[in-house]
Amino acid sequence: MTVCEPAGRRPEQQRTLTAVIFDVDGVLLASPHERAWREALVGFADPARFTTAMYEAHVAGKPRLSGARAALEALGVPDAGRQAVAYAEHKQKRLEELIHAGSISAFPDALRFVQAVGALGWPMAVASSSKNANQMMQPIRLDSGQSLLDAFSANVCGRDLLEGKPNPEIFLLAAAELRIEPAHCFVVEDAPAGIEAARAGGMAALGIARLGDAPLLQAAKADLVVTSLDEIAIDALVDGHLSLRPT
Ligand SMILES: [Mg+2]
Repeated sequence: MTVCEPAGRRPEQQRTLTAVIFDVDGVLLASPHERAWREALVGFADPARFTTAMYEAHVAGKPRLSGARAALEALGVPDAGRQAVAYAEHKQKRLEELIHAGSISAFPDALRFVQAVGALGWPMAVASSSKNANQMMQPIRLDSGQSLLDAFSANVCGRDLLEGKPNPEIFLLAAAELRIEPAHCFVVEDAPAGIEAARAGGMAALGIARLGDAPLLQAAKADLVVTSLDEIAIDALVDGHLSLRPT
């Protein structure tokens, strides 16, 4: 058995992991999407009602327009379908302002993990629904001086797909571009919809609970949930095993 199974679930067939696919927002970058969605609500609904829990449950991982519609519907805004177009435009404008103001930082444990896994020679992909992901990763530097964006051999961020997560399409596309069978990939995700997408695609799912939301990721059936990527045993990855570093 190479993937830690939550208690009570029957082990899947043995698998050896050889590649990793990263979500971006909330995994690699502390990007300002949630803040932009909240601040863009002015004129549509009370921004204070746009909580992190609401963002995680209804918006995270979705393409922009479906995220806008889901948020307005969750807030009970009348005519949400039509209003979503304008709300999505406001959000994008606010996001671009925040990006230009430099409101983006990388999670240090994520940069360490990307570099450690890269040093093993593993194929790595990034798969964010966001069309802004590449622009946000570009200025982030690794210890080598290279851009974070250049650490990945496949990049499917912002591709036009029919459905967002929890549909597995974006992760299946990433696996195909890595030329690795989905069963040999694991996905790193911070949102329940992303964990569901990974599982639906036949991949292992590593949940990163940066917001104290481990139970939500466990409920979505993540194979393993951590609060920092520093908790992952890099030497076990050499053998294709996703497990915790011994404490
Ligand atoms: Mg995310």
